[in-house]
Amino acid sequence: MRTPFVVGNWKLNKTIAESLALVTDLKNQLGAVKGVAVGVAPVFSALHSVAKRLEGSSIATCGQNCHYEASGAWTGEVSAPLLADAGASWVIVGHSERRQFFGDTSESVGKKARAVLAANLGAIVCVGELLAERDAGRTLAVVDEQLAGGLAGIDAAGAAKIVIAYEPVWAIGTGRTATPAQAQEVHAHIRAWLANRFGAATADTIRIQYGGSVKPSNAEALMSEKDIDGALVGGASLEAADFIAIVKAARPS
Ligand code: PEP
Repeated sequence: MRTPFVVGNWKLNKTIAESLALVTDLKNQLGAVKGVAVGVAPVFSALHSVAKRLEGSSIATCGQNCHYEASGAWTGEVSAPLLADAGASWVIVGHSERRQFFGDTSESVGKKARAVLAANLGAIVCVGELLAERDAGRTLAVVDEQLAGGLAGIDAAGAAKIVIAYEPVWAIGTGRTATPAQAQEVHAHIRAWLANRFGAATADTIRIQYGGSVKPSNAEALMSEKDIDGALVGGASLEAADFIAIVKAARPS
């Protein structure tokens, strides 16, 4: 069985003090929750402090993005080994905001994912279609193209350190969620793609998170779908009570 993985993506929010306050609440209140893996992705400036505060807990600290090179003349960037040095154990790559506003492509997402694995971290590889692509019936083709690029050069051993996040772009930060059936259709397709690429046994172990306006009121219905193995949560991860409710909704029944 796959252990669901719920990650809070804080995006460009929270000072160090605010991050520590939130993570202290999570550490205190999620200690007893079993059967769900949990992570938070703070801004880079707070990541080391958050990782230190989370020492001794099972909550993972995640980077929101990284550069594909380890070091060098790349002003303003942060690399996977440096995120590891700061205390991260996972890195999100290919988030739709990176693709939309910062020029990430399927090819560069693949380079980033390989860099994350080379640094001995886990990679959360995001995929998802725009509304126009869904309306044009291109959802599955778009996801296939993003998976092919994002997982290029990764073998079955590397796949063990990969999580896929399916995030329909039209559902991110909009309050509009995919229905559980809409999400499950794409998740099942992603698992079939993974089976074709890595073999069915490996595909069965890879977690596929759903992301896009997940909140306490819709989390349980989404995560009770067979191929939905947790969530990548934006807005609702900024409040401890909402995020904790979502984590509890992911518990296998
Ligand atoms: C996200 O940014 O990954 C996300 C899913 O955001 P939200 O939950 O706010 O839609």
